[in-house]
Amino acid sequence: MIKMDSKNLLYEGKAKSVFQGENPDEVIIDFRDDMTAGDGAIKENMGQKGYINSVICAKIFETLESEGVETQLIELCKPCVMKAKKLDMIPIEVIVRNIATGSIIRKFPFEDKAPFNPPLIQMDFKDDEFHDPMLNDAISIALGIASKEDLDTLRELALKVNEVMNKMFKDIGIILVDFKIEFGKDNDGNIILGDEISPDSCRLWDAETLDMLDKELFRQGKDDEVIDDDEVIDAYEEVFNRLLTEEDKEKWGI
Ligand code: 5GP
Repeated sequence: MIKMDSKNLLYEGKAKSVFQGENPDEVIIDFRDDMTAGDGAIKENMGQKGYINSVICAKIFETLESEGVETQLIELCKPCVMKAKKLDMIPIEVIVRNIATGSIIRKFPFEDKAPFNPPLIQMDFKDDEFHDPMLNDAISIALGIASKEDLDTLRELALKVNEVMNKMFKDIGIILVDFKIEFGKDNDGNIILGDEISPDSCRLWDAETLDMLDKELFRQGKDDEVIDDDEVIDAYEEVFNRLLTEEDKEKWGI
């Protein structure tokens, strides 16, 4: 297996590092324990987060693949370390909302916790310097980051991902409130789901108590100036424990 050292480092994101794989078309993604908020302004090391997120992401990507959505995943080599297809990432955060909360109710007069039916799809420009502003098709096309056809494909895939994930989470007593996904293109120009899906990028509520089981606990802790690391990790672990079968654990040596 390729070494994850600075010589092979292609890109260092806020929570993951991407290394060149053995094959030119492959990368190795290291899921780190770093957790950030406020466009990276606040950063903390959250023990076990990389481990938990990498496994949750592999489980979700495998399920999506089995439902016909192509993802970047080749294999989870071991917890924290994912072998993936090398993609040219599209700098668009595709956000799917099933329930109104978060930034959408701060920006528009939607009622708090009102359901969106059909789900609402939003696209943000992935750029910390500009604070990820909301896009429309005309702006995306003018920026040269996606064609009209690409944007239609992103929406179609996002709805399919939402459908599959809604069922996955409903089956384990979790409401999928909203989530963010990112896509990239392979050498043939195919649009493939990349980056990660984990409690870092979703809002997940316990179906009975409506307790938060995601990164929102960290973001709120930051706003209140008291981040309870154990509370955050316990929530992530709850998702991990509900999602993984004994078979999954055996396969990934957990
Ligand atoms: P909101 O726009 O309400 O803050 O977030 C909507 C959804 O997208 C939430 O599930 C949130 O976790 C996710 N999301 C939005 N922007 C980002 C981002 O920059 N990074 C991550 N990890 N998730 C994001």
